[in-house]
Amino acid sequence: MSYSITLIPGDGIGPEISEAARRVIEATGVKIQWDVVEAGEAVIEKYGTPLPEYVLDSVKKNGTALKGPLTTPVGKGFRSVNVTLRQELNLYANVRPARTMPGITTRYKDVDLIIVRENTEDLYAGIEHRVGRDAAESIKIITREASERIARHAFELAVKEGRKKVTAVHKANIMKLSDGLFLECARRVAQDFPGIEFEDMIVDAMCMKLVQSPENYDVLVLPNLYGDIVSDLCAGLVGGLGVAPGANIGTEAAVFEPVHGSAPKHAGLNRVNPLAIILSGVMMLQHLGEMEAAGRVSRAVTAVLEEGKSVTYDLGGSSSTSQMADAIISKLE
Ligand code: NAD
Repeated sequence: MSYSITLIPGDGIGPEISEAARRVIEATGVKIQWDVVEAGEAVIEKYGTPLPEYVLDSVKKNGTALKGPLTTPVGKGFRSVNVTLRQELNLYANVRPARTMPGITTRYKDVDLIIVRENTEDLYAGIEHRVGRDAAESIKIITREASERIARHAFELAVKEGRKKVTAVHKANIMKLSDGLFLECARRVAQDFPGIEFEDMIVDAMCMKLVQSPENYDVLVLPNLYGDIVSDLCAGLVGGLGVAPGANIGTEAAVFEPVHGSAPKHAGLNRVNPLAIILSGVMMLQHLGEMEAAGRVSRAVTAVLEEGKSVTYDLGGSSSTSQMADAIISKLE
């Protein structure tokens, strides 16, 4: 059995971390035909867009992609490539686990969260306009369809992963209509899952509680913007952006990518942490049903972290990106 998978290396540090992930995944023996497609800054000049049609076509055809980060060109009139990709492919659920890992020094023990972020609407709908010279408006879109869909995804994931509680995060005390609708939908869907505890929390209080006692939370479900912010906060609880993986799931396709961006100042230096994309690759293997290979990579990552010798600068080591990937490969059972 061989899988056809789109690989988007990405901008900045993207190519070096993507290569690391590709080598680790291939070392498991899972057979993959990579359809490598360029997107982002590198192709703007050639195609007039950072997201050429062939990229979308490849992901639609293969149904699965592993993606490096893409730089959003500022002030050139392009929308974020990442946001466009998620909207075009209707990748409605952004799933970001945040787990304490051995060997990574953090302020917290026993963090084991899954952040489920709505990925298609909210302020990311991109509907903005200027009102005269001195004001601007951005429109926040919340719909029943998208809110129920993301709440259902969070509860179904909770059941699948043996989780106990889902917390819906909102600001419905202020945005009574938009966040109010999101909360109403989450409450409605919760009734279909009596075995999972449900609670809701205002986003500011949630941030405080997460930095005080993150171990009290399990699955969080949030609208797009709060999801973006809170998931970076949660990445910080477990060791930072270098170790935070993610998945964008839709009905027709799934795109796996690290939470972090293209970190241009580190590009080409072979020094950043490849773990976020490697762990995104683990999520991809699980999605494909390759549980054994996923488990082997996870255990190899744990062994490298516990040993602490072959880790990158952000984890207190001095290994390069490729050396850390080599160390993980050498620990594959
Ligand atoms: P960033 O995540 O690229 O980098 C911020 C800092 O985090 C870096 O300077 C570095 O110190 C650290 N960091 C990030 N990844 C790391 C890694 N793998 N190992 C070690 N340290 C790491 O955020 P930014 O500088 O705000 O954004 C740069 C560009 O990336 C922007 O154009 C932004 O739009 C884009 N971006 C893309 C995505 C995506 O493709 N999904 C996500 C976020 C940002």
